[in-house]
Amino acid sequence: MSILPNRQDLQSRLELMPLPDFGLLDMSHYLQRYHSSGARVRQTGAWAQIFATIGCNVNCNFCYIPKINGPWRALGLDWFDLHLAELVKNGVTEVLIEDDHLMHDPLYALEVAKLLKKHDLPWVEEGGLSLFNLVVLHKGPDFVAAMSESDQRSPIYKNVIEAMKQGLTAKQFITSLADSGCYSVYLAVESANEESLSNSHKSTFNSIQNATFEIVKIFTEAGIQVTGGFMLGFVNPPSSGKSKPYIESLSQIDRTIDYAVDLMRAGMAYANPFIVTPIPGTSMWEFQKDYVVRHYDNGWSHEKATMATDEWTAEDIECKRLELLVRANGPARVHEMVSRGTWPVDGV
Ligand code: SF4
Repeated sequence: MSILPNRQDLQSRLELMPLPDFGLLDMSHYLQRYHSSGARVRQTGAWAQIFATIGCNVNCNFCYIPKINGPWRALGLDWFDLHLAELVKNGVTEVLIEDDHLMHDPLYALEVAKLLKKHDLPWVEEGGLSLFNLVVLHKGPDFVAAMSESDQRSPIYKNVIEAMKQGLTAKQFITSLADSGCYSVYLAVESANEESLSNSHKSTFNSIQNATFEIVKIFTEAGIQVTGGFMLGFVNPPSSGKSKPYIESLSQIDRTIDYAVDLMRAGMAYANPFIVTPIPGTSMWEFQKDYVVRHYDNGWSHEKATMATDEWTAEDIECKRLELLVRANGPARVHEMVSRGTWPVDGV
């Protein structure tokens, strides 16, 4: 689907991506006290999951999004403005933003936030904010100058470096989100292990722990709750010059569990562990499918392990997931999550 706001007028984009037909929806199904990310802040009206942009160019090799949704594309601020007006007209009072990579262009994300404020819609960022881009904004020009030349030229960092050059900091970015009504975000932390991140084509900036602690603190001080995502059990082909596959060890997984525990102490609201799962169509599928030991009906949730290696069993990884859940969040909050059916994250 080719969406080019600079070249297509609003009508052409509406033909490609029409606004939802509310005549087909029974909005009484969306009045609950909780949404998928926790407790609502509005006592009346409906909640909705929506998006302002689709796709992602980062190409993490475990992720299906670049293959299914394609590269990052904005639907256009005019399209989003109309979409929000329609939602409000149909009784929606708060929204969850499901963009695959909202922070692909931080300056565009700020324009999206302004429109949410204009329509008086408190919001949750649920699609996942990229920690690595927040680290770049937080660390600033000296950090960027020390990045490798290829990283500085990479399309992954192009927009965030441009925003930083225009003077944007992580604190300004986060404070602007809070001012616009954002009260909760999903932060894709993923791993404490540089090797696991680099072998997955994910930025290793996610493992710069002191920056992550500071970023979580900025969010919580601004009144935004942070749910962190963590991935356990990476399995990748040998990286160049090596003969053995990369299999994340149980002691490396313990480092990610400690990272989650420490981030909870730093103010994170909830730590959410995922098990690395081979998904057909991803770059990793052809390699990882040889490690599959379990029927996919159990495995695709990312909560049940699907793979086993010479270093660990599927059950070992499931135990590690439970260990992260309980050590980071505490048994009472895990119990609350299970009985509530959504994360125990409440607006402040
Ligand atoms: S995991 Fe996130 S950053 Fe990586 S490709 Fe998927 S959407 Fe993009």
